[in-house]
Amino acid sequence: MGLAFWVGNQKEDASMTQNKLVVISLDSMGFRDLNELRELVPHFDQLINRGTWVKKVRGIFPTLTYPSHTSIITGQYPAVHGIVNNTKLQPRRLSPDWYWYRKDVRAMPLYDVAQQAGMTTAAFLWPVTAGSKIDYNLAEIFPNRIWTNQVLVSLKASSPLFLYEMNKKYGKLRHGIKQPWLDDFVTACAVDTLKNKRPDLTLIHLVDMDSMRHRNGVRSEEAKAALHRLDERVAQIIQTTKDAGTYEHTNFVVLGDHYQINVDQMIHLNMAFEQHGWLQSLPGKTTYRNNWQVTAKTCDGETYVYTRGNVDPAEVKQVIAGVEGIQRIYDGAEAIKLGADPRCTFLVEAQPGYYFTDEVNRPAIVEPVDPQSIGEHDRYRGVHGYGPTQANYYTTAIFAGPQIKINATVETAHLVDEGPTFAKILGLHYPEPTAGQVIEDVFR
Ligand SMILES: [Zn+2]
Repeated sequence: MGLAFWVGNQKEDASMTQNKLVVISLDSMGFRDLNELRELVPHFDQLINRGTWVKKVRGIFPTLTYPSHTSIITGQYPAVHGIVNNTKLQPRRLSPDWYWYRKDVRAMPLYDVAQQAGMTTAAFLWPVTAGSKIDYNLAEIFPNRIWTNQVLVSLKASSPLFLYEMNKKYGKLRHGIKQPWLDDFVTACAVDTLKNKRPDLTLIHLVDMDSMRHRNGVRSEEAKAALHRLDERVAQIIQTTKDAGTYEHTNFVVLGDHYQINVDQMIHLNMAFEQHGWLQSLPGKTTYRNNWQVTAKTCDGETYVYTRGNVDPAEVKQVIAGVEGIQRIYDGAEAIKLGADPRCTFLVEAQPGYYFTDEVNRPAIVEPVDPQSIGEHDRYRGVHGYGPTQANYYTTAIFAGPQIKINATVETAHLVDEGPTFAKILGLHYPEPTAGQVIEDVFR
């Protein structure tokens, strides 16, 4: 850990002249938020006026937080970077492990490219960075859902001394991982670091609005209030660079990772597989045994289906197609083309309004969401994880800074284009060609 601070000091001279990049990810911010709710976000409005708004950004399959953030930072699709879902397939566990660790990412993230070029890096709850070489890192190693009391901020996963310092200074702002206090804590830590360490690349992930949407609905008053709070936090972060004297050399990107869709029906696809003898539930539980032949692994709006042994995929497909609320079934070869998990037999998409769980032993395969149950595990009013091709489902991005065109717009881009664009801002190159292309139109 001493090393991280030593490295930081060594790089101080260069840090005042070289252009910097601050990326702020506002979880679940969609194109519609900036297009229709501009009055709630006066600071984003200013940022758009002095920068370039990339309006409709198409996400990846599936539009989940961990795969999306990994695509943003590597410029690759999940089939290549390996983060194909938020959580791992662990049938016996109601709450499986998330992909928390950098070692699971099989493509080069920009923070490693920057680090190898001698730049200093910082990250605040940026997904899948635990155990990485980021100089100043508060790793996200708990599910970003407000009702989970599982606070596991471990010393091992972050930069230990840095986490200790930040927690000592700002830990009182935090109430476990409840929102909006978690974002208050994250913002305070980011502000402190931008001021005192002046990193070359800073990645910040704020999750307030995503939590509010899961719990209250996509266009709820609570979600709008969260959007307004995010606008204020971004303003605070930008102001910090002015105070630190780095503003003139700093490019900012404010982006979303996916949008959300309102839901009121759940599809428990594993119950259909159990009826065919392809998996066995654990008695009295909604989880099931590891000896499955066919299993669904949820991405909320989509689900992966995996098979093993000598099960006939055509028969499985017929069973899935017979379930209410299914919009589309992609076979394994199509899933690879879409950039999803190459190991799946099918990638299944729900109709808007429906989402998948992994549960068994429920009253029916398709079950309405009981409003009383909202806040319990996998009980939502809004979800993501659909294909990025759903209507009005784009995310969005604002670029602003010394290298960026003033008062310009770009109509469309892909989420995987963002990393290569960040690389160009910092004068860096990924070691391998990326799926995404530099968004050249944002540059002056
Ligand atoms: Zn997200």
